[in-house]
Amino acid sequence: MESEANIFVLIDALGWEWVKSHPFLESIAPYRRRLRSVLGYSTAAIPSILTGLYPEQHGRLTLFHAANGSSPFKRLSWVCAMPPALTENRYVRHAVKRIARRANGFEGYFQLYGVPLRYLPSLDICEKRDIYQPGGIPGVKSIFDSLTEHRVPYAAYCYHQGDDRTLAAMMRRELSRREKKVYFLYLAQIDAFLHENADNPAAVARFLDGYSEMLSELHAEAARNYERVRLCVFADHGMAPTVATLDVKAILEGLPFSAPRDYLVLLDSTMARFWFFSPGAREAVVERLARERRGRWLGEEDLRSLRAWFPDRRYGEEIFLTEQGVVIAPSFMGVNAAKGMHGFHPDAPHSYAAFMSSEEVGSDVQEITDVCSLMLTSAGVISGAPVPR
Ligand SMILES: [Zn+2]
Repeated sequence: MESEANIFVLIDALGWEWVKSHPFLESIAPYRRRLRSVLGYSTAAIPSILTGLYPEQHGRLTLFHAANGSSPFKRLSWVCAMPPALTENRYVRHAVKRIARRANGFEGYFQLYGVPLRYLPSLDICEKRDIYQPGGIPGVKSIFDSLTEHRVPYAAYCYHQGDDRTLAAMMRRELSRREKKVYFLYLAQIDAFLHENADNPAAVARFLDGYSEMLSELHAEAARNYERVRLCVFADHGMAPTVATLDVKAILEGLPFSAPRDYLVLLDSTMARFWFFSPGAREAVVERLARERRGRWLGEEDLRSLRAWFPDRRYGEEIFLTEQGVVIAPSFMGVNAAKGMHGFHPDAPHSYAAFMSSEEVGSDVQEITDVCSLMLTSAGVISGAPVPR
């Protein structure tokens, strides 16, 4: 039987801007602040929370990157090489996704989104394993590796086991058994809601009320069973309301270079990432997009300061990032822009993640990368040393 429960709740996309004036968990977790996130999407930010490392250290920025040598999609090259008119439909794409997942034993988050099939044999994905398991982020140590190594009894819940309500119910039952010292709950559905409703603050506030209530009940259950309960709720990144769209494909259409013959471009919602093959293509693309005021190129200095610099350029030889609220559409994430989006510069106000705690945590916790040592300190795995930067 354990006497204390350390409850960590990761809420995808719970941006500080959305909760700063909302009474979300205020009575239970009154110590609140914003946390700076990292460049990229959840693919980058969640590993930063789980490891305490920046993208260039844990290796993850976006789901797809250039294959270095072998691609997990190589075996599907023959279907990817067929004319798009025959293969670019949901049936073939669904089959490719299923086969790729099974043939490679992908356990993590894997979607093809709208990435053209013919691009796949030159790409790889960074999330091959379930990051909520020990060994889930090869090459670095995550909180789950540390907890396992130190034999701390813990439970982790994520979307693989069910929707948010199901996970909360599972955790509630586990709390009544008093066998675990650490609980890690990842809730993914606020992200989807915000993507669809970021233009409707009243609807968002009501939705947050529901989550605040659900987490309050979990806290009450913990307090009934344990002598001491620590609750810490945090997000991976925020969510900006969409204010404009940017058609990168159309902007580049007039150039004498085209994809995928002269260059390859991956269009995420907020980033256009390029690799170039033909002489002159780089200069033409860079010059044309540099005229665009609603975004900018991220140079080596920018990426280094964001701790997202990859010398092998696996995430793009050149990366164009849009301003907060400006969504690339069409992109491989969708033909139309969602009502809300994330993945902008970490300094944009809506990029900041929310953080709230039942206990004062000190001024060391300022970035999402600081959450890992906070969790390990609470769990008794490390002593309360200052967070290294
Ligand atoms: Zn999202």
